[in-house]
Order: sequence, then C-alpha cells, then structure tokens
Amino acid sequence: MSLGSMGAAAPRSDEIWQNVPRIVEVREKTVTFKVNIRNAVSSVSELSASIVAVVTDVVRNGKPVIGFAFSSTGRPAPTTQIRNRFIPRLMAASPPPVLDMGGFDPERLADVMGTPEKPGGDAERSVGIGTMEIALWDAVAKIADVPAYKLIADRYAAGSYDQRVFCYVGCGWYGPGKTAADLRDEVQSYLDRGFTLIKIKIGGAPVAEDVRRIEAALSAVGDSSRLAVDANCGIPADQIGEYARALRGYQLRWFEEPAHPHDFKGISAFIAEYGRAVATGENLCSAQDVLNLARYAGLRPGIDVVQWNITHNGGIANAARSLRLIAGEGWSARSVVPHAGNQMSLNAASGFRLGMCEYYFDAFGVFGGFVDGIEVENGYVSVGDWPGFGFERQAGLWAIMRELAD
Ligand code: MG
Repeated sequence: MSLGSMGAAAPRSDEIWQNVPRIVEVREKTVTFKVNIRNAVSSVSELSASIVAVVTDVVRNGKPVIGFAFSSTGRPAPTTQIRNRFIPRLMAASPPPVLDMGGFDPERLADVMGTPEKPGGDAERSVGIGTMEIALWDAVAKIADVPAYKLIADRYAAGSYDQRVFCYVGCGWYGPGKTAADLRDEVQSYLDRGFTLIKIKIGGAPVAEDVRRIEAALSAVGDSSRLAVDANCGIPADQIGEYARALRGYQLRWFEEPAHPHDFKGISAFIAEYGRAVATGENLCSAQDVLNLARYAGLRPGIDVVQWNITHNGGIANAARSLRLIAGEGWSARSVVPHAGNQMSLNAASGFRLGMCEYYFDAFGVFGGFVDGIEVENGYVSVGDWPGFGFERQAGLWAIMRELAD
C-alpha cells in the first residue's frame, strides 16, 4: 500500500515508515571470469563482474527477502563505485521512497545513488547504479510475489508483456586454433538446440578470413537472414569501408558495431556504404547517449537495431526513459534488442515488449544464459512465473549469489 492510498488522516511521523520494507544491508562481491575467448577488441578472460545482494527486513518462509543482480558481462566490475558511493547513499536514504508495489521505488533510489554527481561521464557510474537498481527490482518483485517482467510491464508498459521472447545466440568468438569448420560446427550446435538466428564475431581477423568464417556459418544456417555479425567496434577506421563492400551482398540480418559507439559520423558513413541493417548501442551508458545515437548516427527506424545493455545503461528505469526518448524520434520498442543474454535482459525484453533478446549460451560461464532447463522452441523461450528475475534457477550462478545471502 502506498502512503498516498492511506486516506485523508495523515499518519504520525513515527508511524509513516512502520510497514514500509527497509533495506537492512547491501553486499557486493567481485568475481573474475575464467573463459579464454576473444572478440575483435577484448579477451573475456580479463573480465569481472559485481554481484549485489540487497537484504530487506521483509521475512518470507523464515528468511529475509533479498534482491540480487550482477553487473552483466563486457565491462569490469564496478566494485569501487558500488562500495564507496552507491551502497552508502542507498543506506543513507533508508527508509526509502515508497511506491505502490511492494515497498520501495528502484527508479527513485537510482536517482538517489547518482546524486550529487555532475551530468555526463555516465559510464563511470551507470554500470554500478544499473546493477544496484536491478537488485532493487528483484527485491520488490519478490516482496510483491510477481515476476520481474510483470512488475516492469505494470510500471512502464500498461501491464502488457510478452509471454514468449524470441532469442538469438551470440557466438562465433575467436579462440586459439579455432577453424572455420569449428565455427560451422558451433553454429550448427545452436541450430540443433532450437535457435533460428545466430550472431558471430567478425573484425578480429583479416577481411578475407572473416568472409570465410561467414561462409562457414552460412553453410550451417542456410538463409542469410538467420545470420548476424558483430565487429565489436574493433575494425580499424581505414578498413570499415572494405568490410561494408565485402559483406553488403550477403543480406545478413544485421551488421553490429561497425564503428565506435560515439562515432556517429563513422556509423552513418558505414550505413551509407553498407546499405543493409545495422545494429549498435550496447556501449551506451545513459538515456542521452541513446537519444543521441537515434538522432545523429544515421540509423533508420524500422530497419536498424538499437541494443543497449540493461545493466550498463543504468538499469530498468533508465531503459524506460531511453525508450520514451527514442519514441520521439520514431523508434518502436520492437527495434530495441537488449544486449548480454541473461535473466535481466530476458525480463526486460518481455516487460518492455522489445524486439528480441540476445542469449549467451556458453560464452560467459555462469553469467551467460537463462534459467536451467529452459526450452528453446523455434527461436523462442517462455518467461517463467516465479517471483523476481529468476537467478535462483541458474544453479551455477546461484551457487555464487547465495554466498552473499548467508
Ligand atoms: Mg556487439
């Protein structure tokens, strides 16, 4: 129940917070990945992630309700920011701002965590705030006893969500001794598991070798509209045009990250030469970043794809803000595809009714993929009906997260 629904008689100040869930403690743990794969610009073996647990004073089945999240994949763990700034600010704000659903409002608490800091330079804080904010959503969803996607839909999408979400697999990383034949077998293994759209890495080898890799992947997927490629912004500027000319004849589903995410002129020039669908945005860290990309990079609503990472872009509330801003530029939520396939992006894809969701099956160890045993049917997965995001249903990930609960 919100304070606003408590009736005309104002409660005494000492009564106001009596039934409001409180944050008792926030715990953070940093984990280093142990995976030896690389894309065009980085090695996964050097990455790390923050795991966060927000402990509340709400007790269910004799245990406190705890919200969890992790900082996704692809950027270093925001350990210092979380420990030195965001946890202290969150705790100082307790009792927290109140909302109807379950107790405290993650959107307002995300603002609390980012205050007082200058606008701009968002990447330094957005990953940490996004991780903390999603853990708050997980706690609120568990207190309200609803799935996270439903909470997101109720708050931001008039209550409608997608029960089934289309997923593509991100794969085809470069690895020691990995051949084009190995890549073909890898792609085939995902097709055998029920996926119908596959994305492979490019830009980490000479163009001619990447073309051979694309040909190998195509020999498995057949239809080129079922294959996308991702250069991870790693193609040298003087070779971008060469890639555009070499690949434009293939009619691939999309060409991802041809240039630096803030090089709007470079992205625009690539689109002009390549002509076909382009995707980018996973490195954006604010709603303003997303709006600028939509406005100035030559992207075409209805053709191209915007792909921010839910955690790195500041969390659920900032995703809602980003969607509102680009809607003003003609973009539908269906043109947005959240990056970094995990339970956080899957719940966001369902709750915001986004275009599809990435799925990392093997690449990031316990930090990739969805709940254990999830069925993939013709490229689609169904969201579950358990409270929160569902981290507890990923045995490998939960084994790490639960250490923070004890
Ligand atoms: Mg990418």
